[in-house]
Parts: sequence; C-alpha cells; structure tokens
Amino acid sequence: MSQLSQSAVMAALSKVMDPELHQDLVSLGMVKSVAVQGQAVAIEITLTTPACPLRATIEAEVRSALEPLGADRIDLRFGANVRQAAKSDLPGVKHVVAVGSGKGGVGKSAVSANLAIALSALGASVGLLDADIYGPSIAQMMGLPEAKIVANAERKMVPLERFGIRFLSMANLVPPGQALVWRGPMLHTAVRQFLNDAAWGELDYLLVDLPPGTGDVQLSLSQATEVRGAVVVTTPQDVALIDAARAVDMFHKSHVPLLGMVENMSYFLAPDTGRRYEIFGHGGGRAEAERLKIFFLGEIPLDPALRESGDGGEPLVWSQPEHPTARALREVARALAGRISVETMHLLPMV
Ligand code: ADP
Repeated sequence: MSQLSQSAVMAALSKVMDPELHQDLVSLGMVKSVAVQGQAVAIEITLTTPACPLRATIEAEVRSALEPLGADRIDLRFGANVRQAAKSDLPGVKHVVAVGSGKGGVGKSAVSANLAIALSALGASVGLLDADIYGPSIAQMMGLPEAKIVANAERKMVPLERFGIRFLSMANLVPPGQALVWRGPMLHTAVRQFLNDAAWGELDYLLVDLPPGTGDVQLSLSQATEVRGAVVVTTPQDVALIDAARAVDMFHKSHVPLLGMVENMSYFLAPDTGRRYEIFGHGGGRAEAERLKIFFLGEIPLDPALRESGDGGEPLVWSQPEHPTARALREVARALAGRISVETMHLLPMV
C-alpha cells in the first residue's frame, strides 16, 4: 500500500481522465485542492459546468484511483466554473448558444425555455433571448406575456426574470397581437440591440431561440457575436429531418459549430397503459445526426404535460421537475453543457 500523501493523491488524480475532454483532471486544472490528514483525504474538484453530465463517472473514477492508496475516508466536493475560450464580445456572457430548427412547430421554443431553466436549476447562470421575431412565444411560456421591458440608467434593456433565468422577448416590446413586418437590415439591428443594448449581466450561457428556417436572423446572430455553437431541434418525420439538415448546413456555412441535435416529440407514452407509441417513426433524429456527423443530444417525448405547462406559462422542468419528460429535458441540458465544455476546450490553447 502506498503512503497517503498529497503528492501521491495528485499522482493518482493525474491518471483520472475526464471522459469527455480526454485529458486528466490535474492537467485540466480541475483539482482545486487536496488536503490529507492521517488516512483521510479531502479533495475539491472544479468541473467545467455545474450541469456536468459525467459527474458521477468522474466521482467513481476518482474513488477507484485513490483506493490503492489506502485512504479510509475520501471527502469529495464538486464545484464548477464555466470556462470561456476567449474574452467574449458581449461582456459578462461566456457562451452564446443558438437554438434553431428547420421548420416551425417542432417545439424549438418549448425546448429552449425548458433547457434554459434546467441549466439554471443545475447551477448555471442563464439568459434566454427570444429572437423568433415573427412568432415570439418565450414571454408566454415564461408566464409574463404582458410585462414590458424597461431601460436602466445606462439606457440598456433590463431582461425580465423568472424561474431562475433572465430573458428578453420581442413580445414584451410590442403590443400583443401586432404583426411585425421587418426587413433584413431591421432584423439585423434588432438582434444586435437585444445582444448589446441589454443588461444581461454575468451569464454562463445565453440561449438564443431563433426563428425557424435559415433566414436573416440566423445570419445576423452569427455576424453580431461569436456563437459558441448551435443546437438543432427536430421531430422524427422525414419532412422535418430534411429541413433540419438544411439548418445544420446553414450553421456550417456561417461557421457556427454544431453542438448537437435534439429530437422532440419522439414518442408518446400513453398515460393510461404506459404503452409507447412511435407516432412519427423511430430513431430518425439519431440516424440523421449520425449521418450529418453531429452529436445526438437526446429525445423528448410528445407529452401533453409539456404543452400545457409551457403554454400555461410554467415550463415543465420548473413546475414538475420530477416528471419523466422533465428528466429527459434535464438530460439534454446536461449533454448540451458537456458539449459546450468540449467545444470550448478545442479552442483553448494547449496546456
Ligand atoms: P416552435 O418554436 O418550433 O415553433 P413551439 O415550441 O412554439 O414550436 O411548440 C409548438 C407547440 O407544440 C406549443 O404549443 C408547444 O407547447 C407544443 N410542444 C412542443 N413540444 C412538445 C412536446 N414534446 N409534446 C407536446 N407538445 C409540445
């Protein structure tokens, strides 16, 4: 049995790999502190996101790496610090993440709102920008359709706050029901203003709910700021997948990294029998993600509870966090946070 010392513990930790980042915890700078007292060791590990999908795996591997050292007590504490690749052009905002879809009605806004709230509930500071200028639905989903955005002393828009996140939606700027007829240059200005002329404060993640399709707003966003990556939401039918592939192609062309694809309305679990119905076929999203060589972030069922909670202004991950569909959304949020860490790692200088 080796002697329990700080250096022996560090040596053991330098053999534990982060399963996603493919580097060891020590060289990743994730070991914040190691304290040894007799046969007891206390370790603090700083994860790259509070929503780390692999925390349990890392914990198990740390424990098994320390076993041969003969510690009789291992006190493991986890913290998190979302890393940034370079100074962002939006002060305080670490990562801008676009959420897009090939076509409307696939649940992009419902997924965006729930992912934002899930990331926040897992410990991240999160903003949500409703850039779906023509059909803004975030204000409704966040339960504040009537609220009006005000400016602060610096004449910046103050995001509304609810369910632990900050958000801005065009719906809170124009009278309800008023149609917007905007041309490209005006859209470009609107996106820039929502990004730059708003007091977002410190955010780990700013999710941007884009309009469906491959139009001006998508382009404006990637020109207005550095987008860490994009998530494409699809449903499993072939017609949706064809459009999703188009959205993926557009992000490639605008040099926005693809973080992954989410399949929404994947299946229906009958509430009376529990039977699973694959209404739009099975596995389409995953297969398409593989074909397009992008990451598959997960499946969300077709679930009346998701619609009712979102349309009623209390998104499911907030109102019923233990609901199976809320759990599925949380898994997608974790997978997404993991992908952002990986994408950021690729951009950091080699250590
Ligand atoms: P998009 O932003 O893609 O146009 P929305 O998020 O506005 O779509 O969703 C359209 C409608 O479908 C909304 O009423 C929403 O609550 C509902 N919806 C979204 N996802 C699901 C789901 N998985 N199960 C049931 N209803 C859903």
